[in-house]
This record gives sequence, structure tokens and C-alpha cells, in this order.
Amino acid sequence: MVKRNVLLNPGPATTTDTVKMAQVVPDICPREKEFVKIMRELEAGLLNIVHADPAVYAAVLFCGSGTINMDICLNSLLPENKKILIINNGAYSSRAAEICEFYHLDHINLKLPLDRQPDLQAIEEVLQKEPEIALVYTTHHETGTGLLNPIREIGDLAHRYHALFAVDTTSTYAMRPIDMQKDQIDFCMASAQKGIMAMTGLSFIIGRKDAIEASAAYPTRSYYCNLYLQYDYFQKHGEMHFTPPVQVIYAARQALKEYFDEGEEAKWARHSEVFQTIYNGLARLGFQIYIPQEISAGLVAAALYPDDPNWDFEKIHDYCYERGFTIYPGKVDNMGMFRLCALGAIEKKDIDAFFEVFEEALGTFDIRIPVRQEG
Ligand SMILES: *Cc1c(COP(=O)(O)O)cnc(C)c1O
Repeated sequence: MVKRNVLLNPGPATTTDTVKMAQVVPDICPREKEFVKIMRELEAGLLNIVHADPAVYAAVLFCGSGTINMDICLNSLLPENKKILIINNGAYSSRAAEICEFYHLDHINLKLPLDRQPDLQAIEEVLQKEPEIALVYTTHHETGTGLLNPIREIGDLAHRYHALFAVDTTSTYAMRPIDMQKDQIDFCMASAQKGIMAMTGLSFIIGRKDAIEASAAYPTRSYYCNLYLQYDYFQKHGEMHFTPPVQVIYAARQALKEYFDEGEEAKWARHSEVFQTIYNGLARLGFQIYIPQEISAGLVAAALYPDDPNWDFEKIHDYCYERGFTIYPGKVDNMGMFRLCALGAIEKKDIDAFFEVFEEALGTFDIRIPVRQEG
């Protein structure tokens, strides 16, 4: 038995013991047919999660954390003399803009308020004014705050102006139901340690094959992180171009089996129940939550630090950590916040147990309950 920790940070998530143990396998060379078969099945499962027709879409696997997907999508999908539009309303879309700057990609960084859904008219105006936009990029769920972006509407706009639509779904994939076609997505992405509740080190982009094939003619900006190169190699050989994270792939295979056993709807219902329990627990203690529930993705609650001289996030964190619960700081500049997330193999009863410990921590450090919020 491995000690079970309840991770309330925004990934990596709590995993099942069966997923942890799936990594212990006989040594194998990833060029073996047996391993190629596992890779092909993995691709089929990853497509199935977002209802992507394998005739139209491919899943392209990479060895790295989730940011590698952002890097690859942005650096690989920009044709010559065209522009990227970044819908920026959070830390993750800011990271996408940083990647564009880093590669000197021609882009428009459309900065919007962090605490509300984007003004679609403002997006449309940019698309009207800038016909060179070939790729619209947005974050489905800004994990720093919990904000949900209306991807279907943004995707519809992108397509009306003949641009591809890429969505960072790292913190919704395999949690909130996604349908590539209905949600107007050309490219989405995630990493194994979040929605599918597997291990870190494996990331994947799901995208339209015709668009990936067209990108073979675009300027190349990275060798290891090029979408077409990896796609082409996998299509031909069923292998990643370079050494894959072998044991992590065995864990992902087990995690997909558990995903389909639980089922899309039941899994989303479980995450929703966990989130509601988090939300209610924070509200009961008087915490103010940054994003109203109506525009939240229903997976991350960011609570403002209380106005209490005794509040010290580190002390509360350490108290909870010693008892098997991990809480996480916020990600909005100049605002003290912490986050509790509903990712992973956890249930309502874990959150009930957490709030017992959390309330005990507040008491131990003399923080008044309900907490003071000056607003
Ligand atoms: C977790 C996450 C990422 C990837 O972060 P890594 O630290 O590179 O794994 C990217 N986008 C979003 C929205 C995320 O939540």
C-alpha cells in the first residue's frame, strides 16, 4: 500500500493505486510490436474521450509537461505572413502570449479582464480588422482563477473568419465533457497528470489531420517540438519519434481503462460533487471566492486570503500537508488567494475530511471564523 494523499492543487492529481502500480512492468524496448500496440490503443482512447473521429483527428503524443503542448501548437501552426490571436484572460493564456514572444511569432495579445468571460464583440472586432489571423488560441478553463471560457462561441467566430481554433483544455479534458466537433475545436491538448489521473511526463495534442498535414509547409521553429514531425512519425511507425516515457505510458493505459469504466457522465458528476462540496465549505467559513459559480468551470475554487493578522498561507498549508491534504496558492498578481481543486481520484468524503482538518488549522492559528473579508 502507498500512502494516499489528497491533492487539492491544480495537478498533478491524486491517482488510484492501480494506476500507480501499472508502472511496474517488465523492462521493454519501446520499438517492440507489443509496445506499438499499446501506443495505438492509447491514441484511440485519447481521441474517444473528446468524441473525435479518428478519420478526421489524430492524437499526437509528447514527452513533457502540459506547457509543451502550448509551445508545439503555437510554434507549429502559424503559416508565413500570418498572425495568431491570443484571447488572454488569465495566467495560462499569458503564458501562451509569452511563448509567441519567445519565438517572435506575429501575434495579437488581446488582454481581457480576468474575472469575467470575454466580450465576444471585442474578439470579433479584432478578427474583422486583422484578416491575417490564421490561428485563434484560448484557454478553456483558466486554472489560475477557475474561469470558464465560452469556447463554442469563440470557435464559431474563429471559423467565420477562416482561422483555426486551438484550445488549451489541459484542465478540463477528461473532466468536463468535450466534443471536438460540437465545441468547434480544431486543436485541443492535455497532459496525463490532470483529467485522466495518470502520471506526469506525457502530454498530447488532439487535432485535425488536414491542418497538421498543411503545417508541413509552414516555417519550422523547433525540431523536438514540431507537431508535423511527431505526427508523421507516429502515423508511419506507431511510435514516438524519440524515446517515450515508457512506464508513464503503462500508467496512462490503465488510467484510460479506469476512465471508460467510470464513464464520462459519472466522472463529471463526481468532479462536480467534489467542487460543490469545496465551494460550500469555503462559503460556510466566510471565504470570498474570486469567480462566481455561474462562470466557473466547476473544477477550481480560488478563495481570497482573509483579512486577519494571523493568516499565514504557509502555516495552514503545512498543517494540512502533514495530515495528507495539499492546498495551493493563487495565481493572480497582487491578490492574495489560495486554490482548492476538484481534479483527481477523490470524492466528496475526502473534501469533508479536508474541511475538518482545515477548520482545525484555522483554529490552531487563531484565525477568526467566519473569516473576515473586507472585500
Ligand atoms: C496545468 C496546465 C498547463 C500545463 O502546465 P504544466 O506545468 O506544464 O504541466 C497548461 N494549461 C493549463 C490551463 C493548465 O491547467
